[in-house]
Amino acid sequence: MDYQQDFDFENRIVDAHEIPEDNLEIETDNPLRPRKLEDYIGQEKVKENLKIYIEAALQRGEPLDHVLLYGPPGLGKTTLSQIIANELGVNIRITSGPAIEKPGDLAAILTNLNEGDVLFIDEIHRLNRSVEEILYPAMEDFAIDIITGKGQMAASYHLPLPKFTLVGATTRAGQLTAPLRDRFGVTLRLELYSPEELSTIINRSANILGIEIDSDGSLEMASRSRGTPRIANRFLKRVRDFAQVLNDGKISFEIARTALDKMEIDELGLDQNDRRMLESMIKFYNGGPVGLETLAAAIGEEAVTIEDVYEPYLMQIGFLQRTPRGRCVTAEGYRHLGYEFGGTASQQTLF
Ligand code: ADP
Repeated sequence: MDYQQDFDFENRIVDAHEIPEDNLEIETDNPLRPRKLEDYIGQEKVKENLKIYIEAALQRGEPLDHVLLYGPPGLGKTTLSQIIANELGVNIRITSGPAIEKPGDLAAILTNLNEGDVLFIDEIHRLNRSVEEILYPAMEDFAIDIITGKGQMAASYHLPLPKFTLVGATTRAGQLTAPLRDRFGVTLRLELYSPEELSTIINRSANILGIEIDSDGSLEMASRSRGTPRIANRFLKRVRDFAQVLNDGKISFEIARTALDKMEIDELGLDQNDRRMLESMIKFYNGGPVGLETLAAAIGEEAVTIEDVYEPYLMQIGFLQRTPRGRCVTAEGYRHLGYEFGGTASQQTLF
């Protein structure tokens, strides 16, 4: 279909996946990441429980139990894992599921850890099976069995490991295999942030980056940030450019609104791609139900991206519903796009 070419999924400013520019401010590390639990904004339930678990582990002088963090991209899973290590006063080793290709790669990482260290594995659902199997005894018994050689020359070594804490992050806990999921003692689910929380995050980041901003300006950006701190911080950097050229560097409500309008982010944080996805559901599938794979093929996007990036927010604002038969656009979704609910496409033709 021709209209597929209009989608620009590669360069979405509202895509919550990390891009190198998110971390550009200083080479060594991202200064916008909070380092302590008390600086981590929102996620009150998660923080409250985590604080207890960390304190208890410290009191007992034992490593923290393995922690699984799940939630959409950009909500602060990596940040939280670094905070956990900081609060425990240990080192952290950061890697990701796809980066660990062979069992030997994981064995090398594990044997290099020190007692109590945190090992953070991002996208842990993407570990391959043979690697995952090494992780089971490592998590449970702090040991791995290594087999060297082949045939008659094969030998097996039982290698004890330092007691470490695995922090795994995934966009959806449901994607994990049961044996892996069961080996985490603590499972924490991160929620999308409220505009007020995002506004606090934006103010904190503006302060760190030396950007002048007023409260209306920050709230305007916050309410268009799809509940996601990574997007909020990205908006801040882009809107700063507009403020610098059009104002005197200060981000006001007017500047924030003008900049975000120019970037085609609407007042709810939807960009052209969200609107077109909803619109294609309305126009070609009568608002749904549409199966995930059908929808993915229709808009030329991967099913996992639709599930991880588009849906959490569109469902949170009540524009999209998941039913056993597929995805449906709600009456509010129709209204927002200027269509009459239940009928066929009305006023606008965007394709
Ligand atoms: P994830 O690992 O879930 O994709 P990150 O931990 O990389 O997300 O967070 C993305 C960015 O958002 C971080 O650089 C950080 O600046 C910011 N951030 C995330 N959560 C918070 C929070 N609770 N408070 C303040 N800033 C946050």
